[in-house]
Amino acid sequence: MSTLQRAFGPEAHPTDGSAVFTDLNPSRAESREQLSRATYDLLVIGGGILGISTAWHAAQSGLRVALVDAGDFAGATSSASSKLLHGGLRYLQTGSVKLVAENHFERRAVTREVAPHLSNPLTFYLPVYKGGPHGAAKLGAGVFAYSALSGFGDGVGHLLSPAKARVDVPELRTEGLKAVAVYGDSQMNDARMALMTVRAAADSGATVLNHAEVTGLRFSRGRVCGAELRDRVDGTEFGVAAHVVLNATGPWVDHLRRMEDPAAAPSIRLSKGAHLVLKRTSRWRAALATPIDKYRITFALPWEDMLLLGTTDEEYTGDPADVAVTEADVDQILSEASTSVRGRQLRRELITYSFAGLRVLPGGPGATSKAKRETVVTEGKGGMLSVAGGKWTTFRHIGRTVMAKLAALPGRTLAREMEPLERLPKHPPLPGVANPHAVQHRLLSDGGDPVPNLGEDTARHLARHYGSIAFDVARLAGERPELAERMHPDAPEIWAQAVYARDHEWAETVDDVLRRRTTLTIRGLDTPEVREQVRRMLDS
Ligand SMILES: Cc1cc2nc3c(=O)[nH]c(=O)nc-3n(C[C@H](O)[C@H](O)[C@H](O)COP(=O)(O)OP(=O)(O)OC[C@H]3O[C@@H](n4cnc5c(N)ncnc54)[C@H](O)[C@@H]3O)c2cc1C
Repeated sequence: MSTLQRAFGPEAHPTDGSAVFTDLNPSRAESREQLSRATYDLLVIGGGILGISTAWHAAQSGLRVALVDAGDFAGATSSASSKLLHGGLRYLQTGSVKLVAENHFERRAVTREVAPHLSNPLTFYLPVYKGGPHGAAKLGAGVFAYSALSGFGDGVGHLLSPAKARVDVPELRTEGLKAVAVYGDSQMNDARMALMTVRAAADSGATVLNHAEVTGLRFSRGRVCGAELRDRVDGTEFGVAAHVVLNATGPWVDHLRRMEDPAAAPSIRLSKGAHLVLKRTSRWRAALATPIDKYRITFALPWEDMLLLGTTDEEYTGDPADVAVTEADVDQILSEASTSVRGRQLRRELITYSFAGLRVLPGGPGATSKAKRETVVTEGKGGMLSVAGGKWTTFRHIGRTVMAKLAALPGRTLAREMEPLERLPKHPPLPGVANPHAVQHRLLSDGGDPVPNLGEDTARHLARHYGSIAFDVARLAGERPELAERMHPDAPEIWAQAVYARDHEWAETVDDVLRRRTTLTIRGLDTPEVREQVRRMLDS
């Protein structure tokens, strides 16, 4: 038995009450038992960010809440986004000034107050090429207006010379480049932000379970009053009773609506967006947002020390579970990126990972790239609420919108149980909230006791993905030095994160650990050896 295997084993759960080990998540059997015994005020089906945020807000307002997902939390669309918290520059074109201002407000609240440890401001360069779809004067005015709608909180949008922009982005293509428009937005790791919001919901009292699929709905006198579930890990079947059921299944929303009413007409259409992750050939101090045509922008974003390229926008009619990146998507993304990114950064051998997700758009005719991306809450024949559409950026706003709908339901049964929204804190922070620079500094200066000596990249990674919870992870590594080892020599992650993911972050599968709790998969470092080691750790 290797030292790592020993560290993963039962002895990694001491009962000495040390801070790290006291709040292990309940086992799946305990969660199932709890879910099947209680009657919940609200059952949320779908643990993407819309469902997670609603569960968080509902639990905060005092409701008894259950949240279930057929796969992993944020395992579908919510970990397949462009990772941007943004005002939505392109909405300015359609005159949606109020929408941009609202998005900016949410973006800044998340980046500054709710989750400064999980998100960061990012400068964007919008290159204007000769013969491009928009002129420099128009884009200069556009970024100025965009920054004004954010109260100039991220600086004043302006034009920059190509030579200056090239200093920050050496891979910027400068042939035919007339000017660069500059603006500010924010960025995150969407999977980890979602996970921390699940944790916030659980800390507020919600019962949460992933890998638990709703296979049917329960009815009482024609009204939906719960759901039948199957645990995808061990096949156990169980049920959940609830006064109100919320369908937050994203691309599957109509599938669930048909469980309520087999005759329900389609309410949405889907558009696929694919992304590529590449190793970087040089440092990127800003992101590129390059107009492809009048409506579309392609992004080249520095993210997790890698480069994220995308995205496509194409109508999708297949099974949502089958969405995947095709060769044609890869060709399109690389070709569109080459408008502004030099060829040596776009070599195929630099690609480490690709992923695709589905935008949920209101049903109707016309190109998907022009369709409105708004949140819609509807009530079905049996009283089930369905929520779909909207942006990651406005996840708190969407949570509040669903809460308002719950409070206004006929009979107002839930309203009596709920603390009114206006009496709740305006910007409650996510768990681990802290200044990530301070956390990183402490992790490095405390090195040796009780925190092990960590590499600077590891300290930075822990601070930016866990906030102050990084100290729990580091202490775990301090108590078991084997867990301070790197999961892969080329990644900043240490094995303590994998154990932490299993015990505190609902990780059940190898992909839960490597794709969403850590960044090994996106870096292309989830080798067979790493996968096997994680498998053993999960089984121990
Ligand atoms: C390509 C792309 C890029 C994007 N980029 C951005 C961006 O940069 N910034 C931004 O603000 N927004 C962005 N968005 C939008 C944002 O990602 C989505 O609005 C958001 O993730 C939608 O979350 P959701 O909870 O509705 O759906 P999902 O995350 O798909 O969650 C639905 C969940 O329901 C579960 N489920 C389905 N059926 C069942 C069942 N029977 N039982 C139990 N559970 C079930 C699924 O497993 C899934 O986890 C992007 C979207 C796409 C597609």
